[in-house]
Amino acid sequence: MTEAPRDPFGWLDEAADRRRDAGLVRTLRPRDAVSPLLDLAGNDYLGLSRHPEVTAAAAAAAHRWGAGATGSRLVTGSTALHAELEAELARFCGVESALVLSSGYAANLAAVTALTGDGSLVVSDAANHASLIDGCRLSRARTAVVPHADPDAVRQALAGHAGRAMAVTDSVFSVDGDAAPLSGLSAACRAHGAALLIDDAHGFGVLGEGGRGAPYAAGLAGAADTVVTVTLSKSLGSQGGAVLGPARVIEHLVNTARTFIFDTGLAPAATAAALAALRLLRREPDRARRVRTVAAGLYAGLTDAGLDAARPDAAVVSVRAPSASAAVRWAADCRAEGILTGCFRPPSVPDGVSRLRLTARADLTDADVTHTLKAITRTAPGARTQQR
Ligand code: PMP
Repeated sequence: MTEAPRDPFGWLDEAADRRRDAGLVRTLRPRDAVSPLLDLAGNDYLGLSRHPEVTAAAAAAAHRWGAGATGSRLVTGSTALHAELEAELARFCGVESALVLSSGYAANLAAVTALTGDGSLVVSDAANHASLIDGCRLSRARTAVVPHADPDAVRQALAGHAGRAMAVTDSVFSVDGDAAPLSGLSAACRAHGAALLIDDAHGFGVLGEGGRGAPYAAGLAGAADTVVTVTLSKSLGSQGGAVLGPARVIEHLVNTARTFIFDTGLAPAATAAALAALRLLRREPDRARRVRTVAAGLYAGLTDAGLDAARPDAAVVSVRAPSASAAVRWAADCRAEGILTGCFRPPSVPDGVSRLRLTARADLTDADVTHTLKAITRTAPGARTQQR
């Protein structure tokens, strides 16, 4: 009798058991198109994802250009919409040039890999987003991971490296919503002739004059040694990503970045939606201010109630929970009270501390904020404020 062949995926059951024992199982929950829940879990910071001008632009683009881009950007995937969006993004953010990719994730992979490479050094903040981390891994560069938000550590890591170097950082960190010290980081890079790559996923549309972003606010817009990535999926309520920077950087990416060259172009509907949202933001710059006011109101209410919230520098407000299972229960209790929150657990948190994450939106009313605070404090598992 022949032996039964070994199950090549048998090990997955053990991995699933470990996840269950640690309270770290993730499940997909399709959302309803119309929900009675107040959404503080999504990233629709400016409330533009369902704006009639944005959705109408998406529908019109799909009718005119088709549902998909039909090919990569260098073949058939570039339309007049892509060119318009790139020109308007560059003008809005005060940079020479912009390149639209199919996601913010792809934009980060493109920028890190195309601008570093074998023999170069990348200095990466310990709390950077997974897409920057993956860019470092793919780049074949030597990566120095430095303590969070520490320009001196960046300076030290760059010292003594003779070749090409780049520091990479989120502008606003997705877990605690704190901002990177961009001026200090830029000075550290300049002292050593290194480039600075800023992922402005959470700053674009929220920070800087009229939402022009964190690099703009830090006086780095248009700098010859600075490159910025953004996602079109948060403040602009659409989908996709972009790299913004000097024209010669963008030209290099067009010719070498693998996640640009070998990926299908952004769908026309998403491109048109992002363009319509960008035009709305230019017309209604107060949306950026409102989202910051809502975030500040959430933070004040949470700390007043004795909860351990991190001070938000942009739209993300995070509150610590005593354990992963307590965070899951807390989020479920909030949901029962009509509030949808994000629940961050390992491995999505760098320090092993689980959190509820609330995203402020420009279209939340003061009554929404009060209702949210009541629900969160009523269901809190007893987390207390700590000095940080
Ligand atoms: N960078 C940061 C800091 C993010 O939070 C995200 C999205 N979660 C991304 C990049 C990736 O953007 P996208 O979702 O457009 O791929």
